[in-house]
Amino acid sequence: MGDRVYNFSAGPSMLPVEVLKDAADKMLDYDGAGMSVMEMSHRSKPFEKIIEEAEANLRLLLGVPEDYDVLFVQGGATLVFAMIPLNLMAGSGKADYIITGQWAEKAYQEAAKLGDAKAVASSKEQKFSFIPKVAPGEFRQDADYVHITWNNTIYGSKYPAVPDTGGLTLVTDMSSSILSEKIDVSKFGCIYAGAQKNIGPAGLSIIIVKKELVGRAKESVPTYLDFKTHADNGSMYNTPPAWCIYIAGEVFKLLLARGGVEAMEQINKRKAAKLYDFIDGSKLYTAPVVKEDRSLMNIVFVTGDDELDKKFVSEAKAEGLVQLNGHRTIGGMRASVYNAMPEEGVDKLIGFMKRFEAENA
Ligand code: PMP
Repeated sequence: MGDRVYNFSAGPSMLPVEVLKDAADKMLDYDGAGMSVMEMSHRSKPFEKIIEEAEANLRLLLGVPEDYDVLFVQGGATLVFAMIPLNLMAGSGKADYIITGQWAEKAYQEAAKLGDAKAVASSKEQKFSFIPKVAPGEFRQDADYVHITWNNTIYGSKYPAVPDTGGLTLVTDMSSSILSEKIDVSKFGCIYAGAQKNIGPAGLSIIIVKKELVGRAKESVPTYLDFKTHADNGSMYNTPPAWCIYIAGEVFKLLLARGGVEAMEQINKRKAAKLYDFIDGSKLYTAPVVKEDRSLMNIVFVTGDDELDKKFVSEAKAEGLVQLNGHRTIGGMRASVYNAMPEEGVDKLIGFMKRFEAENA
């Protein structure tokens, strides 16, 4: 086996080595079952235990209140973009969206296909370099919900605090930040995330939704897209993404053993601060996002010279620091430092950045 690299990919991204090794050990025989979890009936006792523990541990990690359902579904965050309006545009049929990046825009566009969606604020003209502040009075008072994207994976920004909607239901995409910092679930009507960044393999999405918001979808909504289908059936209406749920469950156990989300937040703040402090103190690199809205997970920076950016990415790769290129639509660099990125990886990256600066200043 070759050496593992430090993988700064925005997703799918690094998973904890402990989880990968343990899954590899159990690949042919999961706890005496004589088969892997991948080959196991989702109705079997061992899998029932896996999914129940995964849900219980996620609830523990995030402090999910009793009056919320936790759903495991397929289709990525992109399918949830459609599920949100199909389930929650159930009163006035209006929903207000804050546009803080391409994913927020996609969520909004999906809602606009299905109902009266309004983009109430956007930082697009300023290249999504900040999170717009919206006063509660700027939302339509009869909107069924307000949608935000907590962490903007492509631009590297995040909400510094939960925005005040003046009592309107708040829905958030937390795909790229879930489990990275403490959040108060009770402030949201619905939180959702694709798994492939901070949770596990691609192919699983998690939806945490207040029970009173479940069961509002119209009759015409396809069965799979109705939250109630998954809520009533313990996420086992049909075959769930069993392998993904298993690995996610192993990640949850590991996070609990490491002190939970509070402990991860401390480490994540330290990792991000090291990088931003270095970037802010350097003459070569700049971070385009305003300080108060910077992401802890996706650290975006540029040299201001496209060719030099490309050189950076390729030389870093040669040192085992891979996937540092920015999103294909914006270029530059992006270091995604999810929970599974060890602090040592960040230190190595900073060491490389220093050398590259000295050689190219
Ligand atoms: N939302 C955010 C914030 C994302 O970063 C991504 C993917 N990078 C998506 C949604 C889309 O997720 P998926 O590919 O799981 O549909």
